[in-house]
Amino acid sequence: MNLQLTASPLDLRLRDSFRIARGTQTVAENVLVEIRYGDRTGRGEAAPSPFYGESRATVLAILPRLAEVLGPDPFAIQAAWRGMARMIGGNFAAKAAVETALFDLVAQLADQPHWRLWGLDAAACPPTSFTIGLDTPERMAEKARAATEFPILKVKVGVADDVARVRAVRAARPEAMLRLDANGGWNPKEAVRRLNELAPLGIELIEQPVEATDYDGLRFVREHAPMPVFADESCVRLEDVPRLAGRVDGIVVKLAKCGGLRPARAIMSAAHAHDLRCMLGCMIESSLGISALANLAPNADLCDLDGHLLIDDDPFVGVTVEQGRLTLSDQPGLGAKPRR
Ligand code: MG
Repeated sequence: MNLQLTASPLDLRLRDSFRIARGTQTVAENVLVEIRYGDRTGRGEAAPSPFYGESRATVLAILPRLAEVLGPDPFAIQAAWRGMARMIGGNFAAKAAVETALFDLVAQLADQPHWRLWGLDAAACPPTSFTIGLDTPERMAEKARAATEFPILKVKVGVADDVARVRAVRAARPEAMLRLDANGGWNPKEAVRRLNELAPLGIELIEQPVEATDYDGLRFVREHAPMPVFADESCVRLEDVPRLAGRVDGIVVKLAKCGGLRPARAIMSAAHAHDLRCMLGCMIESSLGISALANLAPNADLCDLDGHLLIDDDPFVGVTVEQGRLTLSDQPGLGAKPRR
């Protein structure tokens, strides 16, 4: 009998409304995918983003069709991938949920955590940053102080007055490593001007200073700003990597953008071959989605896997974060289990 897939809504309420350059979010409308095989259940999470053309509605609409490509064998992940790609383009958050649910099953059947099947060194995970969303400078400083257990903060910028906001965070956390993410909110000249102004505060890197399709803008910022430039929204698929080589210093890999652990792994290898650093990133996701990608953290150079730390009542338990350090689960599978 072919594998059966069920999908259900997964509402994740944010502790605090989360604002970035292009909008504010109070709840993440994700989708839980479960694939049953005998007495086992493989689980995956879709974290759709309208920016990449997906929503809960598109995910729930496409999943029954994606499920048609599943055969009887959970190990046939390459065939499932080809089938999904032939069925429809895009829809990568939905595809990632199916693919990771299969990988969860396979690792459970092998009775090993996914990272161990790849021979990875769990002790090699880079520490994760903790994100401070846009707010008033006072509130951002307060949030930065409340996050004192995290040595690395990622501060959202890309709006008017963001220099004052970063100054407030720096004053609140003089010892922290600060990364910035403009989510495409600046034009290239504005980006260079602000980054030069912010550089004396000690900034490790800037993520997506200009809009996603502005590849030459990325290069311009890289050539004129005093810190490394990373591409997030500009790096979705494997083909984007060679385009970005020479224009940025690193890229951000997310399951919801690329469609799963197989493409994530390919993108990471391609990036390293092009001398780009790799940061693992996330959407607002429960510990289910975060734990899935965290299996590849030993291969990454930087991590920004904090989506599950920004929500109330995480319905899953998996990878843990302490002082920014990730501890991968040693349980068979991708490492997340329902909390109740
Ligand atoms: Mg980003």
